[in-house]
Amino acid sequence: METTEVVIAGAGPTGLMLAYELRLAGVDVALVDGLPARTGESRAGGIHARTMEILDQRGLLDDLLPLGRIMQAGHFAGLPLDFSDFNTRYPFMLAVLQSVIERELDRRTTELGAVVQWASPVVDFRQDATGVEVEIGGPNPRRIRAAYLVGCDGGRSAVRKLAGIDYVGTDATVTGMLADVELTDPPAQPFFGHRGAVGDFSAVQFEPGWYRLVVQRHDRVLERGTELSFEDFRTSFVEVAGTDFGMHSPRWVSHYGDAARQADRYRVGRVFVAGDAAHIHYPAGGQGQNLGIQDAVNLGWKLAATLRGNASDELLDTYETERHPIAARVLHNTRAQTALGRPGPHTDALRDIMSDLIDMEQVRHRLGLMITALDIRYDIKGEHPLTGRRIPDADLTTAAGATRVHELLRGGRPVLLVLDGNDVPAVPQWHDRFDIVRADSRGAHWAVPGVGEIPTPAAVLLRPDGYVAWASEEPAAAGLPEALTVWVGAPA
Ligand SMILES: Cc1cc2nc3c(=O)[nH]c(=O)nc-3n(C[C@H](O)[C@H](O)[C@H](O)COP(=O)(O)OP(=O)(O)OC[C@H]3O[C@@H](n4cnc5c(N)ncnc54)[C@H](O)[C@@H]3O)c2cc1C
Repeated sequence: METTEVVIAGAGPTGLMLAYELRLAGVDVALVDGLPARTGESRAGGIHARTMEILDQRGLLDDLLPLGRIMQAGHFAGLPLDFSDFNTRYPFMLAVLQSVIERELDRRTTELGAVVQWASPVVDFRQDATGVEVEIGGPNPRRIRAAYLVGCDGGRSAVRKLAGIDYVGTDATVTGMLADVELTDPPAQPFFGHRGAVGDFSAVQFEPGWYRLVVQRHDRVLERGTELSFEDFRTSFVEVAGTDFGMHSPRWVSHYGDAARQADRYRVGRVFVAGDAAHIHYPAGGQGQNLGIQDAVNLGWKLAATLRGNASDELLDTYETERHPIAARVLHNTRAQTALGRPGPHTDALRDIMSDLIDMEQVRHRLGLMITALDIRYDIKGEHPLTGRRIPDADLTTAAGATRVHELLRGGRPVLLVLDGNDVPAVPQWHDRFDIVRADSRGAHWAVPGVGEIPTPAAVLLRPDGYVAWASEEPAAAGLPEALTVWVGAPA
């Protein structure tokens, strides 16, 4: 029987990102997908600031940025949210197709030695005290034994169902239909949208010459498996928009609903779910792929630390305690956005009021930080305002020259960052398990999303995902051994 350390079911953005994180830590993975090959379906239309930060800290963003289009604003239920004054190196949305992200992640993951095994659906598994035996179906049936199995196998996840995890939530009330097309008579602006009597429509230019047309119908719910032809799409679009903009040459036609469901557990023993396997919701605000990539980056280093014997099993439980509330919040805000999208004069009035409120800086920040996930604060013990938040990508100077925080995280190891000439706290029992970096911060303050300016700390312990496990304004190490025990493992 083939053996490995982690079987990842599903090579969408979540599975690919997890494979990257595990390979970076030297963990063996089998990355299997039920499809015969990548479909190239365009799917999600962009990524937000927190995902860009996460990709940048691994050196995965530089190649993606030129492949997308920078959009200064995102939206909440179609009401524009300007991100341009947010405290991040990436105060914008990057309009880049999911197919492009998958292609790039696939390339970088392959470089690290994780090659997708296509036509390899997970059809069953059994777990015992020491591992999971995963049964692969398809044309080459086989079994793979691993220490862990992670279901990144999408909304209809076989892993989730086989693990007996409930997928709880609400049914669809609205249907979105989309087509990626060329237009002979395009609207004047690259982004154009309008609300009508039974729904709304939008036309977004994704690539030169190519548009995504979307129509949302509140007067019907299409069953999940229903085929939608290009002609059906055109008819539905014209009913709402009054024109077809001369659409032709469809690349992709699809539909989706606003069913909002979440796995009631993210872990059953040695089996985990991540990405759409753990949560689905309406694509309002463009949050789903971001959630999945961030799930993967939260789980990857924890699995690696546990496999290397450094961490307690409870570290793995923090994947669910940290990520479940984040997805629950996204389900909640997408339900609100669906309600704000319903046609009719009552919703029109509500939207007018919301629009006025969004003009207030505090409201725009509150909603924008939620949609971009820049306001995430995990429940990590500690008084310092950075604890549990992601470290800003501050400019630094080390003995080797100019750098910035994200560059310290490229290797996916914990980092103890000691700033501005302060003494390195004495914690020798852990020294081989994290990098120590002494640096000068180029600025007395750091700007933290959702917090504002804070004095530059004396020392910060960073988890491999860039979230702060411990920070102090004093050179003393009070609380550091405790934080290391939780996040890096018991002392040697
Ligand atoms: C129209 C639309 C627009 C969207 N726009 C955005 C957006 O702008 N921003 C955003 O962040 N999100 C957006 N989303 C959501 C985003 O597309 C999903 O959240 C994302 O694809 C989830 O990635 P994933 O890797 O978790 O799952 P998936 O992409 O679904 O990948 C799952 C993989 O698992 C494989 N698989 C299935 N069953 C098995 C099995 N038994 N064994 C092995 N492999 C299996 C599948 O073949 C697939 O390759 C949008 C979605 C839609 C429909």
